[in-house]
Amino acid sequence: MTVSSIVTPYFVIIVIMSTSIQKFETAAGRRIYSLPVQAFPPLRANVYLISDGEQRILVDCGSGMEPSNQDLLHGLEQIGPTFGEPITLADIDQIILTHGHIDHFGGLPFVRQFTDAPVGIHILDVRVISHHEERVIIAARHLENYLIEAGISDQYRASLMQMYTFAKTYYRSTPIDFLLTEDEPVNGNIQVYHVPGHCPGMVCLQVDDILLTADHILSKTTPHQAPERITHNMGLEHYLASLQKIERLEGIRLGLGGHERPMEDVRGRIQVIRQSHQERLSKVLDICRQPKSIADISKELFGTVSSYHVLLAIEEAGAHVEYLYQRGELLADNIEAIEKHETPVIRYRRS
Ligand SMILES: [Zn+2]
Ligand SMILES: [Zn+2]
Repeated sequence: MTVSSIVTPYFVIIVIMSTSIQKFETAAGRRIYSLPVQAFPPLRANVYLISDGEQRILVDCGSGMEPSNQDLLHGLEQIGPTFGEPITLADIDQIILTHGHIDHFGGLPFVRQFTDAPVGIHILDVRVISHHEERVIIAARHLENYLIEAGISDQYRASLMQMYTFAKTYYRSTPIDFLLTEDEPVNGNIQVYHVPGHCPGMVCLQVDDILLTADHILSKTTPHQAPERITHNMGLEHYLASLQKIERLEGIRLGLGGHERPMEDVRGRIQVIRQSHQERLSKVLDICRQPKSIADISKELFGTVSSYHVLLAIEEAGAHVEYLYQRGELLADNIEAIEKHETPVIRYRRS
């Protein structure tokens, strides 16, 4: 296993180059196999397979890019020889998607070539999967308006929008068969927790004493945040409440994330993530002693970043600005211009 880190100013992505599958066993003897896939270079994602010997549940499908699909097939092939439990995609009884991000659901059409197993996701992410084309157009419109308001120049905005829509155009809509809800454990024995914030329909799944944390809690990275202004049920307010929800759970021995490594201390990890958001909120307040646009704030927080990271940095900064604005700790400074102009840039200052 090789570990390399890509340091960006706003978060650190630890890329765990594991080519090997891992097996985890719950207190009740259920097996969870971790299958690492190359989602988008250099981002690796973890697909999981839960088995009690009778029911086999695939959790997430990778990105759908060729290396991701091949890693998934290869990982499944290894389970038999390595752990003595042969499983193919044709043996899968159910498919669960933890959330509507393409590094986790993009491989669904590929997986569906091998199995008719029903597909489940939380209702707030259904349309991302089943009405993808419509959703991309609406989401792109929201994002573009947001970037204008954030103070991104026309030329730069065009290239960011191109980047945003590129990765989303190769997936084709796939129907959803059932909904994940907290009231109804999957199979009667996998508890679902709805944890909006990083994504509207994000869920964690409790299998006995192991919690699949998806992208809600990761072992190294502070999961990316975007403002609710772009997509409802995202944003820091929801995210922090969702962290608290998981922090209250009893009897979790191990956390397995949608990326990176297993977490032996999920509560400890939650505290570190929460602290990093508190520090970032303080920095934003500090920066806004003078009126600043979100583009300015992003630059001051994260310095110069390139390609897709620019978009991530602007969303991340915006999520923190939004949280402070919701609490009246930031105010719009250029209120006259906002009132008169059709597409104003908002400048924030401390109240
Ligand atoms: Zn995600
Ligand atoms: Zn992810």
